[in-house]
Amino acid sequence: MARINHDTVELWQGWQRRELRVDRCKDCGTWVFPPRPFCPGCWSDALVGTALGGAGRLVSYSLPRVAPGSPPVVSGVVALAEAPGVRLLARIVGIEPERVALGMPLALGWWEDDGGVYPQFGPVDAAPARPDGGAVGGVADEGAADGGAGEAGA
Ligand SMILES: [Zn+2]
Repeated sequence: MARINHDTVELWQGWQRRELRVDRCKDCGTWVFPPRPFCPGCWSDALVGTALGGAGRLVSYSLPRVAPGSPPVVSGVVALAEAPGVRLLARIVGIEPERVALGMPLALGWWEDDGGVYPQFGPVDAAPARPDGGAVGGVADEGAADGGAGEAGA
């Protein structure tokens, strides 16, 4: 998933600290992702790493089938609310695949695999509180309408 090179090593190191950092151009304000040495908007190299809370919305997803009987892993593209234009490919957890919906608000979390830490996203209202007590994400609508929107199977 992560190809580590000179440009992405800082991003990767941030993940290992469970920190999502995205570079922002100091000169024109463009968010720069994936990481690269120069701003694609104005060619400035004055890029400043900015830690994000990770609130976002789902803009695309797929449900790859694994083996029969095993749950599909939802792979999604998340648009970050704090960094317009930045989209992150990550797995979506904490929700049944048939309830995944485009545009749904998501909160950042982390998972570990094979010695590495990777970002993942889950529904805002199901996201666990952070150890420091702060809520994950920004929006926490209580009691979202949950009445009879189920789809009949084909
Ligand atoms: Zn720029």
